[in-house]
Amino acid sequence: MKRATQQKQVIEQELSSFNSFFNAEELYQKVSKKNPKIGIATIYRFLNDLTKNGEIHSFQCNRKTLYSNSKKNHCHFTCERCGERKHIDIKKLDFLNEKVDEEVCHFQIDVTGICKKCR
Ligand SMILES: [Zn+2]
Ligand SMILES: [Zn+2]
Ligand SMILES: [Zn+2]
Repeated sequence: MKRATQQKQVIEQELSSFNSFFNAEELYQKVSKKNPKIGIATIYRFLNDLTKNGEIHSFQCNRKTLYSNSKKNHCHFTCERCGERKHIDIKKLDFLNEKVDEEVCHFQIDVTGICKKCR
């Protein structure tokens, strides 16, 4: 029991050091430097639990799951012609809150169009 608590503390500490998006492998890299006994399965389980509790937020990016403990949205612009993909920054949820009656926690938007180079 004590061991589990210590592991949890290490993971929590490393997780809070991210101030942007991260994936499970990145967290694992950091954690294993502090405690090599912690396996990636433990990391996945931990991230799953936190996501379920709403303590962190999860997004899809290039078919990978990203997590964030601060940022609450993840938005892409993809060009239909050249396939270039970039991240766009949307700071406020206000426009969404006006449309949705439910309480919004986090969101992801994928916008498709024609990029500057292809226009
Ligand atoms: Zn969330
Ligand atoms: Zn992304
Ligand atoms: Zn393009």
